[in-house]
Amino acid sequence: MTDVDVAVVGGGPAGSTAAYAAADRGADAVVYEKGVPRDDRQRLGPDSTDAAGFLDYWLEVAGLDFEDIPEDVVEKTLTDAEFVGPSERAVLDRTGLDSDYDHFGFTFHRAKFDDWLRDRAEDAGARYEAGTSVKSVDSDLDGGHEHTLTLGNGDEVTAEYLILADGPQRQVTMRVLDPLLPDGKKASEVLSPPTANHIAYQEYRQFPEELFDDDSLKFWWGWMPGETAYPWVFPNRGNVARVGLTMPIGMDIDDFDASEWRLLREDDEQIPSGSVYIRRLLEELYGDEYDVDEDFPLAVDHGKSNGTETYPISSTRPIESPVDAGIAVAGGAMGTTSAFHEGGDHVAHRTGLLAGRLAAEDRLTEYNDAWHDAIGDEIKRNVAMADVVGDFGPDDWDDTIRITRTMLEGSDGGKLISKSNARSAAGGLGLYTKYRKAKFGLRKGRYAQLRESDYSF
Ligand SMILES: Cc1cc2nc3c(=O)[nH]c(=O)nc-3n(C[C@H](O)[C@H](O)[C@H](O)COP(=O)(O)OP(=O)(O)OC[C@H]3O[C@@H](n4cnc5c(N)ncnc54)[C@H](O)[C@@H]3O)c2cc1C
Repeated sequence: MTDVDVAVVGGGPAGSTAAYAAADRGADAVVYEKGVPRDDRQRLGPDSTDAAGFLDYWLEVAGLDFEDIPEDVVEKTLTDAEFVGPSERAVLDRTGLDSDYDHFGFTFHRAKFDDWLRDRAEDAGARYEAGTSVKSVDSDLDGGHEHTLTLGNGDEVTAEYLILADGPQRQVTMRVLDPLLPDGKKASEVLSPPTANHIAYQEYRQFPEELFDDDSLKFWWGWMPGETAYPWVFPNRGNVARVGLTMPIGMDIDDFDASEWRLLREDDEQIPSGSVYIRRLLEELYGDEYDVDEDFPLAVDHGKSNGTETYPISSTRPIESPVDAGIAVAGGAMGTTSAFHEGGDHVAHRTGLLAGRLAAEDRLTEYNDAWHDAIGDEIKRNVAMADVVGDFGPDDWDDTIRITRTMLEGSDGGKLISKSNARSAAGGLGLYTKYRKAKFGLRKGRYAQLRESDYSF
């Protein structure tokens, strides 16, 4: 007899949703969240660092109904997203994928979103212990599964099912999975390879009224070096925008020609920090007519601390879970956050929902099939895109953005990425073929880098 039916490590979207789904199905569920203080939240809660954008079709992927999301969680309704290359630009006004939501997407307040998910879990009967770290897990798999969690205060709790939702840093996940793999295979090697380790940084800046685009996301591709390295601007309420970026850790400035990248300078002695990059972006865009410090002040009461937030992430491909051990890995911990664009709240929500529900119903062995069915297409698209653009330089980004613009102009609805659309742009077919080939290589769940059959215990 265990203390609880389902123990969840981490109380972000994946963990809270898992606990909600488990409790909603009658299980005794508890979430342990180490607790991260934030200026924009009164109580201790999950980390909640995020650009916080949601695209229309992500609601279906998430298994969320827009009507259920409280009004004060949503910040802005979006009409489009703008992609800016070194000299090309394209405005995407549709995702081209089926959705019941009438707009392009929306931005939201991530801390309030997480608070809502936590409240929903607690209302369903789950316990949410904020300020409690999970230090270690000991799994007894002799003739069944029982997991003993040791908490930060030294207490021990036993659970029949374990849901690992500790986010893309995966410190607990990696330690739990390693002993379940045969010699020579380590979860840490697939889940935290140096090549996938990124830093995300963002600042909340108040924009001048005339420059604040309140219904558009903006991304600058090919402006800074590194795989999945790009800055963005996401509109929030009150003319405040999240100006952020993500970039790989550990790059060497000597590997790049500064003259090729708009946000590098010839006298850079190292890769600029996140704050230097953001300052340069704002200077490049508005510096001729505005004073960045005075006209774009930091909104210091927003975000994690003093209007800024930093988060280490490791964007890799997803892994299947050792479900026979009564363990499901969900959300960022399992690698669902996109290595192409870092979006991941929708897949975190959906995998949490499935893991919690199936654990409560003693059907966790179905989890891997269930998540492949639910989010496989989304993961395949993102992994294929990440593969195609992995070593892009500024000119490749310009080409791709030009092709995208021509494809958009040549079609007035329906699917965006199609052979006939691709034919309408010079170079389009080549790019389309690369993407199709990458997707083909990922068929039958090959985007998963650890399979259920890899575990041995
Ligand atoms: C800067 C940035 C911008 C992003 N922008 C977007 C976006 O616009 N749209 C989008 O959909 N996605 C975005 N993402 C991705 C999205 O934030 C993640 O996919 C999502 O947070 C994953 O949810 P999760 O619950 O799996 O993990 P997390 O939200 O990371 O939650 C994991 C939780 O586990 C807790 N934890 C960790 N270790 C322990 C432990 N030992 N004991 C107890 N608790 C522990 C952490 O404190 C954390 O709160 C962005 C990410 C970043 C960093």
